[in-house]
Amino acid sequence: MGRFVLLVIALFILIGLVRGALKFGRRGAPEARAADGASELVRCAHCGVHVPRGEAQLADGRSYCSEAHRRLGARD
Ligand SMILES: [Zn+2]
Repeated sequence: MGRFVLLVIALFILIGLVRGALKFGRRGAPEARAADGASELVRCAHCGVHVPRGEAQLADGRSYCSEAHRRLGARD
């Protein structure tokens, strides 16, 4: 009886580890790719602040930190 319980617990732990590894593998790749794109900084053409490319507003080949600055346009 004691051995059987231990075996079941060990099996559950094993299944948990395998499922966790599969989940991590599936989720890890796209996140890493997204992080690479987002970590690239672009300069706001209006105020000069640096923002991640993923969050920047793009217009006419320029990048802006916000919708408001995109509407105001480049200052230089
Ligand atoms: Zn700005």
